[in-house]
Amino acid sequence: MSESKSITRIYCETDLGAGLSVPLGPGPAHKLRAVLRAKSGDEVQLFNDRDGEWRARLVDLGKTQASSECLTQLRAAKAEPGPWLAFAPLKKDRLDMVVEKAVELGVERLIPVITARTENRRLKMERLIQQTIDAAEQCERLSVPEILEPVAIEKLAAMWPEDRTLLVAAERQNVPSLAQKLETVTGSLGILIGPEGGFETRELDGLLKLPISIAIRLGPRILRAETAAIAALAVMQAQCGDWRDR
Ligand code: SAH
Repeated sequence: MSESKSITRIYCETDLGAGLSVPLGPGPAHKLRAVLRAKSGDEVQLFNDRDGEWRARLVDLGKTQASSECLTQLRAAKAEPGPWLAFAPLKKDRLDMVVEKAVELGVERLIPVITARTENRRLKMERLIQQTIDAAEQCERLSVPEILEPVAIEKLAAMWPEDRTLLVAAERQNVPSLAQKLETVTGSLGILIGPEGGFETRELDGLLKLPISIAIRLGPRILRAETAAIAALAVMQAQCGDWRDR
């Protein structure tokens, strides 16, 4: 039987390597002390996308800082390519849910998109970045997906790479299902999910003129935006993404 006890994982921007002393900032120090009740001498895991994942020991654990020593490497760094999620930001709890679940489902990049009916236009980027870190720590990723500053839907096309298919989740349209489309598309993918109020017709028309965009349907029911995002990512990963990897 395998060990199931999970060990604390901490994302570190500083270099990791055998014998290196690694400072941990106020965020991790607080979490280790107050939340996890860790003590000096406890073992933790440190990771980042450049150096991979390391066993480390807490050397000193203060209120606002901690330091640790890197011991041995557990996993080498490796790229974690995945779908991109472009989404109209929802209000607090639903937004948090989308960000957390998208990280768990392996997104490579999150792009908040401002549409006419977008509910939340004032994003606290620092808080969202922290959520991507927390989720990456919890789900044992080696990388933390990037979350971009919000872009206007009219500008999404200009920043979207030509070699990444943009699936546009278009409710109430007579378009093929996501599953059907995934049988024929190849290469990298992204999905765009609209706000609770839906897209405006002109927004959809504008985006769907692009050669790389394809409108898709997520089943016969109208889903809440967070359900649509999470369900679509799961289907994409299962049908063409890393859920197929052994
Ligand atoms: N208020 C809108 C529904 C918006 S649902 C209406 O009544 O028409 C929020 C977002 O989730 C949509 O913009 C779309 O991107 C996605 N979505 C929800 N259900 C969907 C479905 N069945 N097919 C495709 N996209 C869907």
